[in-house]
Amino acid sequence: MRISDRIDEIRAIIRRARSTGSSIGLVPTMGALHEGHLSLVRKARHAGDFVVISIFVNPTQFSAGEDLQRYPRQPHDDAALVEQVGGDLIFAPTVEEMYPNGFCTHIEVERLTDTLCGPMRPGHFRGVATVVAKLLNIVTPDHAYFGEKDYQQLIVIERMVRDLNMPVEVVSCPTVRESDGLAMSSRNRMLTREQRQAAPAIYRALQAGAAAVHRGATAPEAEQIMTELLQAQPHLRLQYAQAVHPYTLQEPTHAGPPMLLSVAAFAGDTRLIDNIVVFRE
Ligand code: AMP
Repeated sequence: MRISDRIDEIRAIIRRARSTGSSIGLVPTMGALHEGHLSLVRKARHAGDFVVISIFVNPTQFSAGEDLQRYPRQPHDDAALVEQVGGDLIFAPTVEEMYPNGFCTHIEVERLTDTLCGPMRPGHFRGVATVVAKLLNIVTPDHAYFGEKDYQQLIVIERMVRDLNMPVEVVSCPTVRESDGLAMSSRNRMLTREQRQAAPAIYRALQAGAAAVHRGATAPEAEQIMTELLQAQPHLRLQYAQAVHPYTLQEPTHAGPPMLLSVAAFAGDTRLIDNIVVFRE
């Protein structure tokens, strides 16, 4: 397993891997790796890819006042985990390598970023789309792996790839959860004991909402069920509990499935998100 922080070095290594006939898989991450990330790496290995894991806490996707400084960083543990699951290459660039002086080009994915996390985190998806486009240009993967845990991000990236004719297949991967249902996240390690105990209520609320949608509930009805459950939690501060169409991310035109249920809630200063897509059975 190799590690590099240099774009030219990464390109040379990937050129060599490709010349041996390997397909290339990219797993973009912000590090502090956990089983959720590793499931993406395993999926890429399973596809037979030469697996590149990028680790970059991208400053441009954090709004002012968010947790950029506090975001967990553990490069040595990350390298050991990637080695364990058989990743081939870590790309861990510096901010200067990714955004040299004079950088001024950005990608804006419209409409899909007007809902859910978009209005709550101004500039976030512009930062995400831009950094992912850069990573795709640097690594030139055949496959890029994204988790459904960040469902809106997945939809935004799929749209960008289609709209800009990027020659890559976006592969979506199911959310990996703790045994109590909490979606795994690097941010979970910032939770206090009380917050950690309260956090699985997010998934319980989503499940309650999903059960109602299966019974034919409308979006506002599902939202009310989730909201009531989450507002009753003393250690969580609900930001939104929304039900939208899973492809347009706009208000659904029909009751019942298909519906995306999505929650964002603060536990102290830590922002947690989770979602479930409810399909017709
Ligand atoms: P992050 O490091 O949080 O930016 O996440 C990097 C990638 O891993 C994104 O595609 C996430 O959606 C994915 N990911 C994070 N947590 C999970 C999880 N619990 N299950 C599946 N994928 C995840």
